[in-house]
Amino acid sequence: MNTLANRPLTISGATKTYGTGSGAIHALQDVDLTVSQGEFVSLVGPSGCGKSTLLWALAGLHDLSSGSIKFGEEVITKPHPSIGMMFQDANLLPWRTVQKNIEFPFEIRGQKPDFAKIEGLLNRVGLGGFGPKMPRELSGGMQQRASIVRALSSDPEVLLMDEPFGALDAFTRDEMNMLMEEIWEETQKTIILVTHSIQEAVFLSNKVYVMSARPGRMHKVFDVPFERPRDLKLMESREFFDLVNKIKAEIQHQPTSAAAAVAAE
Ligand code: ADP
Ligand code: MG
Repeated sequence: MNTLANRPLTISGATKTYGTGSGAIHALQDVDLTVSQGEFVSLVGPSGCGKSTLLWALAGLHDLSSGSIKFGEEVITKPHPSIGMMFQDANLLPWRTVQKNIEFPFEIRGQKPDFAKIEGLLNRVGLGGFGPKMPRELSGGMQQRASIVRALSSDPEVLLMDEPFGALDAFTRDEMNMLMEEIWEETQKTIILVTHSIQEAVFLSNKVYVMSARPGRMHKVFDVPFERPRDLKLMESREFFDLVNKIKAEIQHQPTSAAAAVAAE
């Protein structure tokens, strides 16, 4: 475990309303959260509770209505070179090879790609030799592996992941969970994962944060005590099953979004 904790992410009073007037949508309310450097945390909660809204703000992709996000002492108001993001869709440009897709963020920043690092990462995720292929020649899981390489090739300190494996079949998802566990062990990056899968959250995280229905607030945090490194057998244990069910119960006890919105008026 990384104990340096020298560049935490600090979210204070994060509040976000989309639009104005009667059509306004109150997505987040007063969310406080600190993620230490090297921690792996997950955000879970009912659909529409503002998980993506919070992640986009962490990525500097949109503003909060009030509150702040700090990365160490820096206030995040725009994308930060040390904070990478992955989405459910691998978002590979279909007309570029895998290699050229991975190089794309470097091009945007006007930097020379780190070819050695890219090659090492492609090998690491099992895509050695796939650089010259077009995205359509890769399966969904392979495309997400390429997107992991793209996100890690600039060596970010923080990786934000928004339902990255939500579109994959269960078997491929298990494989990706194992890969992420290994990558976290090897790199000790700070990772914030948004997921619908409580199993995935528990398997990968040090802490699971449960958000309440819209407007999203921080409802509860669960420490995940399981030893690391972890392997997929953990998912068959009684303790794993019990913790997953405890977290699921917290989410199911949330009022629906509509009821919560009325209650919050
Ligand atoms: P989650 O990721 O937890 O499912 P989101 O952060 O995507 O939730 O959305 C939270 C709420 O904000 C939802 O009610 C959603 O419809 C609304 N919302 C998200 N993005 C926008 C947007 N760009 N404009 C208006 N409303 C939005
Ligand atoms: Mg979302």
